[in-house]
Amino acid sequence: MTLQIYEHDVIIVGAGGAGLSAAISAAEQGADVGVVCKSLLGKAHTVMAEGGIAASLGNMAPDDDWRSHFLDTMKGGWGLNDPKMAEIHALESPERVLDLERWGAVFDRTTDGKISQRNFGGHRYTRLAHVGDRTGLELIRTLQDKAVSLGIQVYMEYTITELLKDSTGKKLAGAFGYWRVTGLPVLFRAKKIILATGGSGMAYHVNSSSWEYTGDGPAMALRVGAELVDMAFVQFHPTGMVWPLSVKGTLVTEGVRGEGGVLKNSDGERFMFNYIPDAYVGSIADTEEEANRWADGDSSARPPPELLTRDVVARAILNEASEGRGSEHGGAYLDIASQRPTEFILQKLPAMYHQFKELAGIDITKEPMEVAPTCHYMMGGIRVDPETQETCVPGLYASGEAAGGLHGANRLGGNSLSDLLVFGNRAGIHAGQSAQKMKNFPKIPEENIESAIDHLSFPFKNKSSGEHPFRLRDELQTIMEEYVGIKRDEEGLEKGIEELQQLRSRTSNLFATGSQSYNAGWQTCFDLINLIDVSLAIAHSALERKESRGAHTRIDFPTPSDPLGKVKFIVSLSSGKFNISSVSIPTPRKELLAMIKKDQTKQKSSGKK
Ligand SMILES: Cc1cc2nc3c(=O)[nH]c(=O)nc-3n(C[C@H](O)[C@H](O)[C@H](O)COP(=O)(O)OP(=O)(O)OC[C@H]3O[C@@H](n4cnc5c(N)ncnc54)[C@H](O)[C@@H]3O)c2cc1C
Repeated sequence: MTLQIYEHDVIIVGAGGAGLSAAISAAEQGADVGVVCKSLLGKAHTVMAEGGIAASLGNMAPDDDWRSHFLDTMKGGWGLNDPKMAEIHALESPERVLDLERWGAVFDRTTDGKISQRNFGGHRYTRLAHVGDRTGLELIRTLQDKAVSLGIQVYMEYTITELLKDSTGKKLAGAFGYWRVTGLPVLFRAKKIILATGGSGMAYHVNSSSWEYTGDGPAMALRVGAELVDMAFVQFHPTGMVWPLSVKGTLVTEGVRGEGGVLKNSDGERFMFNYIPDAYVGSIADTEEEANRWADGDSSARPPPELLTRDVVARAILNEASEGRGSEHGGAYLDIASQRPTEFILQKLPAMYHQFKELAGIDITKEPMEVAPTCHYMMGGIRVDPETQETCVPGLYASGEAAGGLHGANRLGGNSLSDLLVFGNRAGIHAGQSAQKMKNFPKIPEENIESAIDHLSFPFKNKSSGEHPFRLRDELQTIMEEYVGIKRDEEGLEKGIEELQQLRSRTSNLFATGSQSYNAGWQTCFDLINLIDVSLAIAHSALERKESRGAHTRIDFPTPSDPLGKVKFIVSLSSGKFNISSVSIPTPRKELLAMIKKDQTKQKSSGKK
């Protein structure tokens, strides 16, 4: 097989919001940058983002500032967030949103011409900058235009399968893979590599993910010695479509609730009033009348319980359904039709209107939607330095959903797009600057390149009596749904790990037939190897975390544990064995700690935000 070789100072794997942000800032440091992506430029998962970008611009709520955003992020993450990351994220989000505006993004506007913001769960102020319910499309379009204007080289439809180190075995030196168009191998030599490969939602049957979400970045990083963090925390978004089955899991943006939509059970009751957790008692409306006043803009009222954090709302819907008060197909009803006029819905939620009209034959301006939890986001990911985004493997960086640490036990809506912009930018700056200091490209031992090429063709060497990649993926998704889903316990997790280990050993027998050009079966073999490793990391971390916190619910340990609230679990891989260790979460700096304590006391005593 002919090997194609390219060289760039910085190679970025991923052309979503995180990858493109990193590419722009690395190029602005003077580095020669190449971006590699599995699909076409502009088609990354980020394009699907709907509701908005969280940033304390204060356009709708003048009292908002980075401190409130920091406090909300820490509270939403059940205190498990890396405090430095949460601080940087809150401080830098507004400027990154303004970068988008400077580069031509057309946001929705307030009547006085500022960027419009909307409400989302867990944010005490109206904070999400948005473009209708198609914010991701505008974000990607803007970053893509900017990247192209800087002359950044983009390699489309290339899949990276392996990271390669230099001859010392310590530093990262290249990314190896194939071009999906021909199936031929390719090597990207680089001084620095940034992984911005997004999430791993394809590990579950019911998910809101794009086909690219196969955990490639975290799995490849793990295999070259990087660590993963917070892997137990998988976000099940409360509102995915339920019916028809063919679109089960497709996301229904939180923007519906942000714009006034309410959740009802089969008795027509707004059940979320029954699920306000202790930490939020006092800061959430306790009557429908107050909740409605807040939705109509009365700032003296408190927000409705539908805007509690996603973990809380997802569990509530599940509970209503399991106690016999679910919707026709086992979820809940999300109703904006009875709350807002038709023109408002069409203007604020055009994509949701079309989604339901075309996929389910439902007119959301007249009827309620049926919704249930769907696997949506990975809070866990590659462990990085909070300031530079470098991993423990020299030369390897990560950002965006592929990286972990910022969101702790639960991510607030809108905090992903801001995460991509803030930490994508930081990864690009630091990788770009340090690449500039290196004279030469690190050397990759020839035998390592040959073995990568050899590995690429392994599924064609196996007999067709071997393992079918799509069937194996189906088995994986069933295991994850059954044992590592929203609710977990020790027995199930142990069984899940055992079955995942068996799947892992069966991957050497995966087979592919036909040509290497756009061969979905062959390509799924590599996706699957990554998905299984990420799933094992999730399951091991979930087993170790003997408590319920945020998105991680243990039936056998139903409450949070104080000691576990002070540690993060780290996953590493050595000789094929998954190791779990714990590290203490750094104490926030003095001023931030004082702010957190003051906020908690204020909330308890006043019962208001
Ligand atoms: C329907 C929906 C709505 C959402 N709405 C919001 C919202 O309103 N606000 C918010 O904050 N968040 C939202 N999210 C979450 C948010 O969109 C994602 O978390 C975020 O876009 C992830 O961006 P990323 O840059 O990390 O990865 P992505 O955008 O997924 O990009 C990953 C890139 O990596 C590439 N890649 C992956 N593996 C490889 C490989 N092996 N080789 C080469 N390339 C590879 C892919 O091709 C892709 O280019 C939403 C998510 C969904 C699904």
